[in-house]
Parts: sequence; structure tokens; C-alpha cells
Amino acid sequence: MKKIAISACLLGEPCRYDASNNKNERLLEKLKGYELIPFCPEDYAFGSPRPTMDLVKTSQGNRAISNKTGEDISSPIIDYAKVFFDKNPQIDLFIGKDRSPSCGVCSAKLYDKEKNLISSTEAGLMAEEALKRGIKSIDAEANHIF
Ligand code: SF4
Repeated sequence: MKKIAISACLLGEPCRYDASNNKNERLLEKLKGYELIPFCPEDYAFGSPRPTMDLVKTSQGNRAISNKTGEDISSPIIDYAKVFFDKNPQIDLFIGKDRSPSCGVCSAKLYDKEKNLISSTEAGLMAEEALKRGIKSIDAEANHIF
């Protein structure tokens, strides 16, 4: 059976920053028959609800910066992603929630340090790790391609 790693909020888990979800019934219907492996790096690292974050371009690459404290909070997200993919080496497809700074595949917004928008086609931090490992990855809204 094909294994699909998928943002947990798309399955209905209340793990968004405001403890709501992004349940996507149409997508779930399409995924019947696949083994779904949910993930949520932000809930793991910061709980739900939690302050929002933005993806910001820095000299260390694209980083997650807290909108509450201005701190770089990337490390626990990246660590979670590495452990997740190490524990699940046979993933056939990664489906990330569009526009998330953690899970968006080619739809995350990237800002400069002054909070000017410089791109809307970035990979979030967890998606970046999936792509680095050569895992086929798509945004949930691009599910027509499989
Ligand atoms: S988009 Fe990713 S980080 Fe955000 S709630 Fe969904 S699974 Fe969690």
C-alpha cells in the first residue's frame, strides 16, 4: 500500500495555531486506500493554540520567526521533520497544507526582515526537509496531479 505523509490538520486534527483544523473532505475521499501518516511539527513543538510565525529570509536560509517574540523558532520544527522522515523512510508522497510556513510545498510566503513579502512560492521548513530527501511532495490544493 502506498504511504502518504500528510499535514494532520487536513485530516481534521485541531492542530492549527488557533486550535482549529483544515479538514479537506474531498482530498480525504481521494486518499481512501492509501496509508496516511499524519504529522504536525508546530503542534509537536509549540502546542495548540500557539502564536503565529512567518518564514523569513536570513543569512542562515529561510527560518521560522515568531510573530509574538521575534525569535527564531525553526530548530524544533526542523528536528521534528528529521526524526519523522528517519522513522518513516518509505514515504511515497508528502502532502503539505498550502501556504503554511512549515508544511507548504511551493506556496509558503517568504518575507524579508522588514516583513516585506518577497515570495509566495517557497517550501515551509518541514516540506524543505522532504524535498531535500527526494520525496515527491505536493501542496494539498495541487492534489489533482496524482
Ligand atoms: S499546516 Fe502543518 S504545522 Fe500547520 S497545523 Fe497543519 S500540519 Fe500543523
